[in-house]
Amino acid sequence: MIEIQCTQCKTFIARYTGSGELDLMFLDSVIKPNSLADLKSSSKADLPNLVCNECGRKLGKPTADETGRLAYKMIKSSFRKKGIIKAMTTSPHTSWR
Ligand SMILES: [Zn+2]
Repeated sequence: MIEIQCTQCKTFIARYTGSGELDLMFLDSVIKPNSLADLKSSSKADLPNLVCNECGRKLGKPTADETGRLAYKMIKSSFRKKGIIKAMTTSPHTSWR
């Protein structure tokens, strides 16, 4: 799972299931915010550009893959990714064996 932030003002943009290169951000893999996840049921022509709510920086352009899944084509320099590690890591002081 990753979080996407605006590079310019560090505003939270989205939480997304996936990892690695974020070239296309598929809307059906967006967890938060709902305003963004809900766009998956609209049509490509109705999709607005993905912009930062705070500073208005453009982060992505609407697109779709060959099966019609809606996505944003992300503009590489406009956002930062932050990996989220689930809180499942064991304490280094705990030993079971
Ligand atoms: Zn911003």
